[in-house]
Amino acid sequence: MVLADLGARLHGALNQLSRASVVDDRVIDALLKELCAALLEADVNVKLVSQLRTKVKAKVKKSLDEAEKAGGREANKKNVVQKAVFDELVALVDPGTEPYKPVKGKTNVLMAVGIQGAGKTTTCTKLAVHYARRGMKTGLVCADTFRAGAFDQLKQNATKAKIPFYGSYTETDPVAIASLGVEKFRKERFDVIIVDTSGRHKQESELFEEMVAISSAVSPDMTIMVLDASIGQAAEGQSRAFKDSADFGAIIVTKLDGHAKGGGAISAVAATKTPIIFLGTGEHLHDLEKFNPQPFVSKLLGMGDMQGLVEHMQDIARSNPDRQKDLAKKLEQGKFTIRDWKDQLSNIMSMGSLSKIASMIPGMPAGMLGEGGEEEAGAKLKRMIYITDAMRQDELDSDGLIFVSFDKAGNPIGLNRRAKRVARGSGTSVREVEELLAQARMMAGMAKQAGGANGWMSAMQKMQ
Ligand code: GDP
Repeated sequence: MVLADLGARLHGALNQLSRASVVDDRVIDALLKELCAALLEADVNVKLVSQLRTKVKAKVKKSLDEAEKAGGREANKKNVVQKAVFDELVALVDPGTEPYKPVKGKTNVLMAVGIQGAGKTTTCTKLAVHYARRGMKTGLVCADTFRAGAFDQLKQNATKAKIPFYGSYTETDPVAIASLGVEKFRKERFDVIIVDTSGRHKQESELFEEMVAISSAVSPDMTIMVLDASIGQAAEGQSRAFKDSADFGAIIVTKLDGHAKGGGAISAVAATKTPIIFLGTGEHLHDLEKFNPQPFVSKLLGMGDMQGLVEHMQDIARSNPDRQKDLAKKLEQGKFTIRDWKDQLSNIMSMGSLSKIASMIPGMPAGMLGEGGEEEAGAKLKRMIYITDAMRQDELDSDGLIFVSFDKAGNPIGLNRRAKRVARGSGTSVREVEELLAQARMMAGMAKQAGGANGWMSAMQKMQ
């Protein structure tokens, strides 16, 4: 089961819950049964799944007992169950530890380890691009002398990404190359130096000895293990074996775009309490996503990742200064209008890989990363643009509150006639207009960092 399928199934199970008229034990049991079946199919360890089930049940029971005493309504019960499920899914993928964070202005040495084929070389280049885009001077060192062609591969990737690199066709000692490369970039005041190491040897023990030798020669600030998601829950054993020899501080799980066992790999790694820093989600240089448990689960369930979207937009603003010249400034100043959101939607449309970006927007259908996802995401984004096309100038230049009616006490009570006019004019529904307004408000909230998405959430919840 590809991760997107897992998301769609989890989302489907929660939807069943939303539709249920009464939330009783039978409904909760059916939800848990479906959730557990989906997790097991994604290769999550049976013990972890059974723990999740017990914990959700216990939490729900406790909260419902409390709510009952306070005269709770069905709607609240649904929220209680949803929240318990969400929290436990987050706990399942949360290693609960913080990784090292490279800082600009000092030399940060990162060393990548992992077995051959895991995606090490590709990931090293993706990482280099990630840091370079954040204004850090970044270099790559190829210390894999075991595999013929390893240096050529790194060289090719680095050249394509315009990242300075170091390696040798003649030197056969990986420790010497790693030391020379790191020294060279250190002298040139690079901020981030990434050392790619070998992933195979005649004997496994030689591979580990080599990793230890390189590590003592370059004293990395962070050693990163690169791990292929397709091994599923076996990720736990593999990472422990590496940890025993080369003590690494962080993990990147690759190939989450296509593999059935992604959920298993992530939860297995989380169980070892090692921070997962990024996920590899494709073969291209930009297919690297920061990993944070909460946004990860939120996206998986089709609830979006606004923080990720803002970061993504800031990245684009940095690499396309002409096209996005005011965005970063607006975000900084906390100004964000519906017109800005419209511009962002048009940018997203022209950027390619729609489904990945769209999955960061709340309200997008879950499972868009799967087959047909691009088309579905494109169609949905187009409808959002039609909505903004049907708006008047003053509406576009507003923060969206112009569409909301308030009661005398200043509490939002619903959408006004303008919203209905826009829905009619764009051939969409009021629900969709509401969704778009919500997204724009969330962006504004994120921009202000004042209450952020949570502030908006509570306003919307009051409205419903
Ligand atoms: P290494 O031997 O560990 O250095 O692995 P490589 O970087 O050479 O990668 C092995 C293969 O996996 C290559 O074909 C990569 O394009 C592919 N690959 C790496 N990361 C990803 C990923 O996140 N998704 C997908 N689909 N393929 C990946």
